[in-house]
Amino acid sequence: MLQVNDVTMHYGKFQALNHIDLDVREGELVVLLGANGAGKSSIFRTISGLEKATKGGIRFADQQITGWKPDKIVRSGIIQCPEGRKLFPRMSVMKNLIMGGYVYRKDKQGVQNSLAEVFELFPVLKEKQKVEAGLLSGGQQQMLAVGRALMAQPKLLLLDEPSLGLAPLVVQQVFETIREINEKGTMVLLAEQNANAALQIADRGYVIESGSIVMEGSSEELLENDEIRKAYIGA
Ligand code: ATP
Repeated sequence: MLQVNDVTMHYGKFQALNHIDLDVREGELVVLLGANGAGKSSIFRTISGLEKATKGGIRFADQQITGWKPDKIVRSGIIQCPEGRKLFPRMSVMKNLIMGGYVYRKDKQGVQNSLAEVFELFPVLKEKQKVEAGLLSGGQQQMLAVGRALMAQPKLLLLDEPSLGLAPLVVQQVFETIREINEKGTMVLLAEQNANAALQIADRGYVIESGSIVMEGSSEELLENDEIRKAYIGA
């Protein structure tokens, strides 16, 4: 379980996060909704140890991980799939995946098992394993980014706007796979602006505005909420 307790974070004098409380429990898929600049990536970067909380604490799997270095946080099982995919565009699909399994590189059988799992989830990556990542379509690149994160065998997967720039049908496909990953036992925290698609697959959600959590509830509650519908669904 992930517990973010009363976390505040600053970039210099600018306060990006304001007393954030947020949990992801065993087995859950939780969505974090917010507009551009609301603070979604800042929460992820703080959980991953890339930014330091100025106040508050973060616990994961019964350990206080506040202040840990990013590589130690990765080894504890928290893997971030950043916004914009950040693939290695000139490397093949296969090489990108192998890079994702870097922390387990000494366990060759483990890497092969992870690869087989990723290819089962995303058969298109198996077909295109020799193709340069930069030549894939947007949807395939997103699948590769998620696949690469899975290579590190996450207990908790942090997905930053996986629907960005994808056509609606492709979004649906990517989200179905995210649900499948969650059903196989990986906790997922999903940052999104696409509330409709995200709430279809999530158990619960939080809404962040200007660095503060302003609402939380079950997916049904958030989908029925008028303010959410106006702000994020346009109905
Ligand atoms: P987006 O969807 O645009 O990534 P977001 O919800 O992820 O939005 P953040 O990237 O977390 O938002 O940004 C939150 C606020 O912090 C914004 O006002 C942003 O301008 C600011 N910010 C982000 N990174 C930095 C930084 N390195 N230095 C200073 N301010 C930053």
